[in-house]
Amino acid sequence: MKCPIETRESAEVLLAYCARKLDAARTGILEEHIRICPVCREFADAQRAVWEALDAWEAAPVSADFDRRLYRRIENEVGWLDLLLRPLRPWVARNALPIAAAVAVVLTAGVLLDRPAAAPPAPEESAQVESLQPEQVEKALDDMQVVREFHRLVRPDPGAPLM
Ligand SMILES: [Zn+2]
Repeated sequence: MKCPIETRESAEVLLAYCARKLDAARTGILEEHIRICPVCREFADAQRAVWEALDAWEAAPVSADFDRRLYRRIENEVGWLDLLLRPLRPWVARNALPIAAAVAVVLTAGVLLDRPAAAPPAPEESAQVESLQPEQVEKALDDMQVVREFHRLVRPDPGAPLM
């Protein structure tokens, strides 16, 4: 027979043989080949060693209070940052959406306000530029109003501490 190591399909037959999942006829043919082929013999020996190790391996019994001890250990090893932030968690969860919205508004405003400076207009377009500027100022004021509205929603009481 052709050496099974050389093709993928035949290699799977060899693996099936090692896992003792091959029928008697094919097992006989393969054993005959393994006797004369050092490569397949080495492969089969290695596989056999793995299977024997797996057969011999027994998982240690789990103690009755394993779960309790595991959870207590997890509880004890919670990081200091987590402990510091724990009191803020409900506040952050409640305000996550407004915070994300405010960040988006501030970023958008920053991009819009930054754009004119990045591309200075040519002198002959100055009339058009002048007509655009009030709109940009109005847009910026609108954005600032949104941010102010956000602050009012996040901190309804102006006297309350920041966090
Ligand atoms: Zn072989």
